[in-house]
Amino acid sequence: MSVDPGTGTDQLREQLNRMLEQARDNEALMRRLQAFELRLIQATDLRELSEALLSDFRDAFVLDQVTLVLVDPEDELRHMLTDAGVDPEAVPGLSFVDNEQILRQRLESGAAPVLGRYEPSSHAALFPGSTGLASVAVLPLVRGQSLSGSLNLASAQEGRFAADMATDFMQRLAAIAAICLENVANQERLRHLGMTDPLTGAYNRRYFDQRLVEETDRALRNGQPLACMMLDVDHFKQINDGFGHAAGDIVLREMTKHIKSLLRASDVMARYGGEEFAVLLTQTDMAAALAIAERIRQKVADARFAAAGGTVLAATLSGGVALLDRNRHAGSQGASIVAEADVALYRAKNSGRNCVVAASADAPVTNS
Ligand code: GH3
Ligand code: MG
Ligand code: MG
Repeated sequence: MSVDPGTGTDQLREQLNRMLEQARDNEALMRRLQAFELRLIQATDLRELSEALLSDFRDAFVLDQVTLVLVDPEDELRHMLTDAGVDPEAVPGLSFVDNEQILRQRLESGAAPVLGRYEPSSHAALFPGSTGLASVAVLPLVRGQSLSGSLNLASAQEGRFAADMATDFMQRLAAIAAICLENVANQERLRHLGMTDPLTGAYNRRYFDQRLVEETDRALRNGQPLACMMLDVDHFKQINDGFGHAAGDIVLREMTKHIKSLLRASDVMARYGGEEFAVLLTQTDMAAALAIAERIRQKVADARFAAAGGTVLAATLSGGVALLDRNRHAGSQGASIVAEADVALYRAKNSGRNCVVAASADAPVTNS
């Protein structure tokens, strides 16, 4: 049998071209994957990481749906997003479960990725509200013995994910995602620890000083009012001396809650010193700031603090309030508004305590 040399060469060329094309496709896939992994590694907070996992991944790999389930027993991850200005319940594709067990029940296998047909009975919970899905890849995010979440990919194409496909690159991706998740959570925990006071959970002075610069800048730029309030517990030393340091600690913790309960989310409240609290009231003029300070003073004065052994204590606060003034305070980076509130606080102490004084007006506005 004779072979037409021309036909043989054509077939060979065609085969070569196909192989080259496949190699190019694989290379493009690897490059996209590497770029995506880099995005994950570079994410510095949970918001960035979840954005990369949900939107970037879906777009880069042309998927119809990507969802992320995170195990969040203490609501800690949800708080991290809220602090970053993101409503955790409103991120498309993102959901949370309160413990590993709930997620394990939704996943078909332990730690390995599962690829295959979309089965509503087992996958609907991972892709709520989605229709027209034909194949899925469910990647558990595992760190050591614990399951931290699952990354779930879905396509409207039937053969996009099949049970007999190699899963090594998916496994690698899931491992990287799990490490990055742990990493950003740890970074955020550290950041949070560095900004807060361990006794009361309020922000610390370092955080307040940073926000003071930002908020005075913003208020001066936008021509909006900004008030600063300094609050100091009256005769706190007597509480410590009379009832013990532990009782004093309880008063500080409870007082923090009372103060916070009367502030808005946009206000910045910090434990500024031992028994002193500083508050920045954004977009608030003097009259409104004084009214808030007075409500806080009243609430604390009415409160009773339960210490160990059935002891019930009363405590009061004095307050000083200053308003940002663009003529006097521009360039001070907020330091002078704090100093003025402090002077007003000092006057409140000298006027008999348990009262609130405005920095511009010498007289106490309330006295009881
Ligand atoms: P004034 O009404 O003038 O503010 O009097 P004061 O007693 O509140 O003020 P002073 O500055 O004399 O005392 C503050 C006390 O607060 C002294 C300090 O031991 C106590 N203190 C500071 N930090 C803490 C803390 O974390 N826990 C407890 N229990 N006491 C603290
Ligand atoms: Mg005091
Ligand atoms: Mg003090």
